[in-house]
Amino acid sequence: MSVNEEAIAAPRSTTLRDVPPQNGFALALHGGAGGHIEELRHESKAAFEDGLAIAYRAGRAVLERGGTALDAVCATVEQLENHHLFNAGHGAALTVRGDVELDAAVMDGTGRAGAVAASRHAKNPVFVARSVMESTPHLFLVAPDEELVAGWGHETAGQDYFITEPRVRQLARMQGLLTPAPRHGTVGAVARDKHGTVASATSTGGMVKQEMGRVGDTPVIGAGTYARNGLAAVSCTGDGEAFIRGVVAYDIAARIRYLGMGLADAVEATIENELTSKNASGGLVSVDADGRVVVAHNSPTMFAAFEDASGLVMLT
Ligand code: ASP
Repeated sequence: MSVNEEAIAAPRSTTLRDVPPQNGFALALHGGAGGHIEELRHESKAAFEDGLAIAYRAGRAVLERGGTALDAVCATVEQLENHHLFNAGHGAALTVRGDVELDAAVMDGTGRAGAVAASRHAKNPVFVARSVMESTPHLFLVAPDEELVAGWGHETAGQDYFITEPRVRQLARMQGLLTPAPRHGTVGAVARDKHGTVASATSTGGMVKQEMGRVGDTPVIGAGTYARNGLAAVSCTGDGEAFIRGVVAYDIAARIRYLGMGLADAVEATIENELTSKNASGGLVSVDADGRVVVAHNSPTMFAAFEDASGLVMLT
């Protein structure tokens, strides 16, 4: 394990960025709190920034032309899923058997939500989550077959598309470790559109070397993904089991709703109470009803992009 990977296991004090509302719309994305993996060491900071910027621009363009927060977070996550550097879609982390099982969820502030776990056929699981929401009476689907995915009009892909060479080498290295393998990444986005609606989308390959069928927080509404108009939208990354136990995304919204807390205080309190004090690490991006953006993590680093008065800010 590299030094950075070892450090992942130990949460630190919270790093938090709090950006007041600016344009009438707002967007923030993350590319995971897992840090830089050994096998992608040769990739430059610029390559990561490029991936984050492409995704940010895709979502921002939707919001700028008056599109919905839901369209914006889906457009953002699609780009991150397509990018080989992030743990979602192409380039996702591998299971113990060396293949890819993907989880994703979407939710908008009106209360609509859709999720998919153990997705193996859709090039972009975020679109499958959205189709579950819009084209079925259900909320959560496990392992949808190729026919269903294609029937919704989504591009399908084989395991060859998802599995990249650095991930194969990463799994081989992890197979030799006795200690639990560190998790590595997840992508997500939150947005508030000009109409005042918020939305969240999250997508992941889960933990490196996870058991077949293991599902983390990402597609669990309220844990890794949550949105509610008048309160906030939240997308998480980190130790999935802890995020589920702490119902982290919803806990932030509940602090705003029932305790009247501001977004930054709610985020800080939830990270402290549900993660740091339980020795769990990770981070999240969030936006409140007014378009205030809070990006926070107790992991050493988190890939993220958001905008402040000076322009696009990228954390790598
Ligand atoms: N939260 C994800 C999971 O547990 C992994 C991650 O964000 O690093 O599946």
